[in-house]
Amino acid sequence: MSVIEVTSLHKRYGETVAVADVSFTVEPGEIFGVLGPNGAGKSTTVECVAGLRVPDGGGVSVLGLDPRRDGARLRQQVGVQLQESKLPDRLRVTEALELYASFYREPDDPARLIDELGLGEKRHTPYAKLSGGQKQRLSIALALVGRPRIAILDELTTGLDPQARRDTWGLIERVRDRGVTIVLVTHFMAEAERLCDRVAVIDRGRVAALDTPAGLVATVAPEQRVRFRPSAPLDDRLLTDLPQVSAVTRTGTQVLVSGTGDLLHAVTSILARHRITAADLRLEQATLDDAFVELTGHRLTD
Ligand code: ADP
Repeated sequence: MSVIEVTSLHKRYGETVAVADVSFTVEPGEIFGVLGPNGAGKSTTVECVAGLRVPDGGGVSVLGLDPRRDGARLRQQVGVQLQESKLPDRLRVTEALELYASFYREPDDPARLIDELGLGEKRHTPYAKLSGGQKQRLSIALALVGRPRIAILDELTTGLDPQARRDTWGLIERVRDRGVTIVLVTHFMAEAERLCDRVAVIDRGRVAALDTPAGLVATVAPEQRVRFRPSAPLDDRLLTDLPQVSAVTRTGTQVLVSGTGDLLHAVTSILARHRITAADLRLEQATLDDAFVELTGHRLTD
């Protein structure tokens, strides 16, 4: 059974249609990405899922509950980390977690979470004195302290430096390994590509596509290219005879093989069989970024 079902969701703020028509389901244990440019309607969508906003149309079901009617029960099972959530400056890390833990019937142990999220040395530090990465880790800890079955994380790594971002990605994977289903709102392609099992591409309040990151790339640009310089003379027919290969071109000493499927493996196998090594070997594939442009007609600016 899906843990989240969103059906024809519609939400407007006055004249502004924030969410025109969004449908998707989230399966247990997956990291589900909601990807799109600023203003696409991502936050509004997940706020409706979390029961923080009331939709103007369509349906939302979370763990079989209606966020509008069963808000109190849902809050016990859904952890939310919202964009730019802020805490009082003087609240210390431990105090914040203990405060949040008190909202739940069966909370996690704050001390354990603090250690797990690498905040041990900062446990007595006031919120205002934490770095951006530490604030983000604290906000994840706050989203998890109720031992939720679902965690909704909105623009978690915005504003972090690349190292802090990678650390946060590792953290999210560990949370998923504990069995928590994760909804991750992001406008970073690399983040969606690295973390998400499936991604809903949201553009102007609608779902432009929904698939695995690899699936999204493959549907818009199935072709791959393998580039290399052979160590010995090479008959092109060795390559063109392979079912994966659609074309072989040469520029100077370099060979460029285009094709689909398991192209890299097919090419390297046939070279190995003929005792030819491939110098400067490179595989070129379309990225999720290319897929996004293809799907929406514009670039997602990172
Ligand atoms: P995203 O999360 O993809 O950036 P949002 O859901 O925040 O998108 O916003 C979608 C649209 O709704 C934007 O045009 C935004 O300006 C507008 N919007 C969001 N929140 C409000 C609000 N509280 N009042 C009025 N307009 C809003």
